[in-house]
Amino acid sequence: MAAPVISARNLVKAFGTGEFAVRALDTVSLDIRPGEFFTLLGPSGCGKTTLLRLFAGFEMPSAGTILLDGEDVTTLPPNRRPINTVFQSYALFPHLSVAENVGFALKMQGKPRAEIEATVAKMLALVQLEAMAGRKITQLSGGQQQRVALARALAPHPKVLLLDEPLSALDLKLRKEMQVELKRLQNETGITFIFVTHDQEEALTMSDRIAVMSAGKLQQVGTPKEIYTHPINRFVAAFIGETNFIEAVGEAGGARLKTGDLIPVEGVLHGPVTVAIRPEQLRLVAPETAQAIPATVRDLVYFGTDTHCHIALADGTALTARLQSPANGEVGLGIGDRVGVLPTPGAAQLLRE
Ligand code: ATP
Repeated sequence: MAAPVISARNLVKAFGTGEFAVRALDTVSLDIRPGEFFTLLGPSGCGKTTLLRLFAGFEMPSAGTILLDGEDVTTLPPNRRPINTVFQSYALFPHLSVAENVGFALKMQGKPRAEIEATVAKMLALVQLEAMAGRKITQLSGGQQQRVALARALAPHPKVLLLDEPLSALDLKLRKEMQVELKRLQNETGITFIFVTHDQEEALTMSDRIAVMSAGKLQQVGTPKEIYTHPINRFVAAFIGETNFIEAVGEAGGARLKTGDLIPVEGVLHGPVTVAIRPEQLRLVAPETAQAIPATVRDLVYFGTDTHCHIALADGTALTARLQSPANGEVGLGIGDRVGVLPTPGAAQLLRE
């Protein structure tokens, strides 16, 4: 495996003192590989922006180190790091043209004019804004400004590009288009992207790997599939996608529910556990089916492609099963129907917390 491009080692960042002290980052260690689309995901205030600002050098950690290509850059100022940032606010220069914005960093570096012009043309082609080169920033739409901000950040060809919720100001349609665009830009340039979002769907669809954060701590790092199918704890299972939680006791062969039913699970934990299972991994079958857990239909909600079936187990535990809607939209169930619930083999996860 390639050596990491950025490593965080036991990073701590505290703001304020005494009763006002906040631990924005609490002993965060992380390796990001070259060429990755790496996403920091978590709710507001979990420390995502703080971690980006430490990587960029806008803030110094209270403790811990940051390595770039194996070298300690913890105290290096931002302009001496081969890292660039795209902010949520774009932070473009309104009095300069599109081309002048994109070429700004290269001009500051004292690059020859011909080289600046060639790079600017290449960057504008990359973000499909060739026709806008001479326009003022104020004459652009939000989506176009976003593209200029990206082109400007990519122009000096940084090793790492930090993106702090760069799509949050865009409407849903433009946001979806820019998601595809960002992924393409990352593929074409091969630059490592570290992307911050609180949108779990955005993280799942765009990332090579995701770090899920909560209250300044890393909860789990993995590929979108690993995180979705094997969430490490209740926070991750609840934050990414929808999950049913069932209280149970782990024993040989599975998890024993309060109703007395057994959900078979491999690698069982003994003692009190929570069973986490995704709504699309619950099948509803005839009540007398072998190993099916008896339940009653409480509500049915049609979502087009699928139908959410809310059910209750014998002890009142509420679960949601997501059923694929048939061609005529009728799942053939009614409120009050007795059904059997069969989790897809391997889909149930046991959690300790
Ligand atoms: P959001 O998604 O809302 O931007 P975030 O995950 O990026 O949130 P941070 O901005 O990193 O979170 O903030 C983490 C914590 O640190 C929060 O509790 C925040 O209030 C606090 N914090 C951040 N910057 C400062 C500062 N300069 N002074 C004091 N507290 C700060």
